[in-house]
Amino acid sequence: MDKKEEIASYQRGESDTIMDSFTMRDKTKVLAPSEKLELCENIGDIFELVKETTDRSIGQRRAGLTLYILDLPPYIGAMHQIGSNAIIMNRFVLDALKTSDELRKDANPLIYVILLHEYLHALGYAEEADVRMIAYKITMDSFGEGHKTTEFLKKGLSTILPRILEATEKRSKTPYLEIVKDFDRSSMPYIA
Ligand SMILES: [Zn+2]
Repeated sequence: MDKKEEIASYQRGESDTIMDSFTMRDKTKVLAPSEKLELCENIGDIFELVKETTDRSIGQRRAGLTLYILDLPPYIGAMHQIGSNAIIMNRFVLDALKTSDELRKDANPLIYVILLHEYLHALGYAEEADVRMIAYKITMDSFGEGHKTTEFLKKGLSTILPRILEATEKRSKTPYLEIVKDFDRSSMPYIA
């Protein structure tokens, strides 16, 4: 393998190490998936890690998928329509994760498991039970027991999402009430 090929293979997640000294200056050590997840700065980074860890764990990869961010109903994390090449992440959920430091800490692991679920559908797994089982295997292989991703999958996404949205709703009620308190009734026409 020449250097160019070696770097490309590293970037595809096929090889753990690169010998190129210039690239090695920036990556003084090979990062574990959990360290990489912490360093992810956006949903695109996380999606790359989903593809990389899936490939390493079950040896499957699908190219040519496009990730969209769209307003979906609140209780849907993301969606993929079988046969399409799109995964749609819910903007509502992404925004909800920015509302407190506590939720922000869970954001990357949560987005990871949401995208992983849809990615497995996109790989052709149609049954929910299969997706859940394989997703769990991938997080166990990549992050291990006790990691947030593994814990989220153990509890089930259907229990995690409503809790996040509930927390967001409670918080968003506070400023709303403040506005009502300062409301000038005299300027309002009487409504029976
Ligand atoms: Zn599903």
